Amino acid sequence: MDALKAKIRDIPDFPKPGIVFKDLTPLIRDPLALRLASEELVKPFLNADITVVAGMEARGFIFGSLAARELDVGFVPLRKPGKLPYQVEALSYDLEYGSAALEIHIDGVDSGDRVLLVDDLIATGGTAQASCRLIEKLGATLVGCAFVVELDFLRGREKLGGYRVHSLIHY
Ligand code: AMP
Repeated sequence: MDALKAKIRDIPDFPKPGIVFKDLTPLIRDPLALRLASEELVKPFLNADITVVAGMEARGFIFGSLAARELDVGFVPLRKPGKLPYQVEALSYDLEYGSAALEIHIDGVDSGDRVLLVDDLIATGGTAQASCRLIEKLGATLVGCAFVVELDFLRGREKLGGYRVHSLIHY
């Protein structure tokens, strides 16, 4: 995965002081890195009977759609409140300071679905945990979560205790 790591750029103090933002745009811009990331994201789930991939706004849309293509399934977006046009199921969750919410169309997944959740990066795991719960709220089975980057020191994986978690690059 060194080839992928070489395409990730650190941006200190973005979006606020003290945060080192992992900028994946050079990886997305590179055809070989993009292909490798797409293939590796889904590798553990090739025989897991995934029926749909879900991804969170906004970078989860990029990698989630590519993962869906790899698995030959469709993609369902999880969005910030007020963005989805049809009826939604919503879930609020706590952040370090304040709270956030995610929404999914009520017909995005159903009880017959086996879902792979994809995002670019897992930090504290709050976003992914809320996403898993939202998908389960609609009755679907959450099979696993796949991330390009995992910030190990923030222990987000612990919030996803019951699920299979797959990350390509660790910091
Ligand atoms: P969390 O809920 O703390 O796991 O945060 C995950 C979400 O925030 C993901 O959608 C990431 O894209 C974004 N994110 C959090 N920390 C970073 C970081 N250091 N670099 C890039 N994206 C981040």
